[in-house]
Amino acid sequence: MDRISRIRHIIRWQDLYQEKKVIVSTYEGSEQKFTKLQGDNNLAQENKQKLTELSATLSEKITQEETHLDHILNQIDSMEKDRDNLKMSRQIKSWEKDMDRLAQDRAVIEAQFYYDKSKMGDISQELENLEGNLSTMSGEIGQLETHINGLKSETKDERKKIEVEIEEISSQFDSHFVEYFERILSKNRGIVLAEIEDDTCSGCNILLPTAFYSGTIIQSEEDSSLLQCPNCFRYLYDKEDITL
Ligand SMILES: [Zn+2]
Repeated sequence: MDRISRIRHIIRWQDLYQEKKVIVSTYEGSEQKFTKLQGDNNLAQENKQKLTELSATLSEKITQEETHLDHILNQIDSMEKDRDNLKMSRQIKSWEKDMDRLAQDRAVIEAQFYYDKSKMGDISQELENLEGNLSTMSGEIGQLETHINGLKSETKDERKKIEVEIEEISSQFDSHFVEYFERILSKNRGIVLAEIEDDTCSGCNILLPTAFYSGTIIQSEEDSSLLQCPNCFRYLYDKEDITL
């Protein structure tokens, strides 16, 4: 393939790349949002799982504490009934000692019980909020998915047509060039060519070496190598290259 054909091909390739980019840009943002929402959704699900497990453990602990507390209260109750039957001071002293111990136990277990109850309330509230968020997210995810799929299916034929034409063009270049060209297209947002205007690169406006000047390009017709701007590395072409 001669230089002019190569240039015409890569100009078309760049145009096709840009056309495709415009189409993809109609749903690209939604796709990013979709991916982010899915990530958030997974995190929220994991969080929900953890909180549910925590809530089950805590609920069991609270039940045990409640049983323990009931037991202590019953003991106190029955001891209080016994109080009047005690006559000997040794018995009374022992009763008072036992009662002190029970009162202490009661205070400890009550404090723990109310603390855990309040923690349980927080967890339940957090779970409720999470449920709300999850349901909102799942709605948004569903809407986005429908939106993206709609746009993708609307533009499917158009995208296919572009891909087929790019494939036809790239098949005429060697695989190293194809790989390189695709990489720079994506790196430079689809702009990898520049026209030589007078003696400057229209891409970066740098003054080109004399050998690149319009009309006096040193390459022969058979030389298929492409000129690149020494400053911005865009492939250079002369207006005449594409109008001839
Ligand atoms: Zn340049």
